[in-house]
Amino acid sequence: MDIRTKAVLAGTAKDSQYNSVITPIYPSSTFRFEELGKTKGYDYTRSGNPTRAALEENIAALEGGIGASATATGMAAITTVLFLLEPGAHVVTGNDIYGGTYRLFKDVFAKRGITFSFINMMDLKAIRKAIQPKTRMIWIETPSNPLLHIVDLEAVIGLARKKKLMTVVDNTFLSPYLQRPFEFGADIVVHSTTKYLNGHSDVVGGAVVYKSESIGEKIRFFVNGLGVSQSPYDAWLVLRGIKTLPYRMEAHQRNAGKIASFLEGHPAVKQVHYTGLESHPQQALIKKQMKGAGGMLAFELDTKKVPLKEFFKKLKLFQLAESLGGVESLIEHPWSMSHASMGPEGLKASGITQETIRISTGIEGTEDLIEDLKKALGK
Ligand SMILES: *Cc1c(COP(=O)(O)O)cnc(C)c1O
Repeated sequence: MDIRTKAVLAGTAKDSQYNSVITPIYPSSTFRFEELGKTKGYDYTRSGNPTRAALEENIAALEGGIGASATATGMAAITTVLFLLEPGAHVVTGNDIYGGTYRLFKDVFAKRGITFSFINMMDLKAIRKAIQPKTRMIWIETPSNPLLHIVDLEAVIGLARKKKLMTVVDNTFLSPYLQRPFEFGADIVVHSTTKYLNGHSDVVGGAVVYKSESIGEKIRFFVNGLGVSQSPYDAWLVLRGIKTLPYRMEAHQRNAGKIASFLEGHPAVKQVHYTGLESHPQQALIKKQMKGAGGMLAFELDTKKVPLKEFFKKLKLFQLAESLGGVESLIEHPWSMSHASMGPEGLKASGITQETIRISTGIEGTEDLIEDLKKALGK
């Protein structure tokens, strides 16, 4: 079935009593037993809820998994996956992963018996070298945030499978509309549904998607045990947002492509990082594993020509804010905002500079957005 059909319909029919077209919100924390030992499938909302189940079935269908767990935030989803590891286990991951994930790994799990190697995931040799006898998992984020480095899914997952390592892909940046890691053999896909899946900047949420029942059983156990499941209201909002995901992604990337071309030709811009530009050094890989370039881009501002503060102050439509994936265009400074928790060393290792500016392109009129940037960059 077409992903546009799945986005609108998969999992949504949950009301057989009144046949409501839209999934009802079931705010009930608890569910009556029919008789001792017999329920209608739900007993307590932390462990399961029909509204949340609709969202989980929908996301699983989009990614091509057999099931999913919807969590309170993206970080809750990532935390849940890390609980699959035994103390002493080692994880190989990128030195340019999402700042919150980096902090969770380095400052929370590394102090609780899990070890990590943060490396350049574009370098297959470096990955091979980082794998130790205790390595159990490879954590992949592609494209990376905010410089849009691409990790070769087929090659890295292929290597992991040979070594019997679990692979997890954070697919937040592209959404299943533009990239489906299960097609390359990944074991788990995680999302911050806060971003493109919900798409309207009005909820935080996450999801863990799996394609084997043995992993699914453990994920559901930890989501319930840790108490990180998503509220029915929030799950309903994400489910509503997903219905237009394919159309939003098309609009995001159309705008992003035009903005990237404009920035690339501007004298106050030193470099543009965008997967849709021919100047991106990994075009072959992009064409192989992505169904589109997406809506995220970054650029290096020549701050000798246009000082940072002045640039941000002049913008009227682009809003200076963290986060991404919503219908409105956001702009931010990774060094002092989204990625500040990495510290100067982590930032330098990832390639982020004090001149890096990240844009989450919204779906507003293209010419309005370019005009806004033109005014802020000056002649
Ligand atoms: C935002 C984000 C997260 C964290 O999700 P929250 O919903 O903010 O907890 C994880 N990974 C990526 C790539 C993200 O952009």
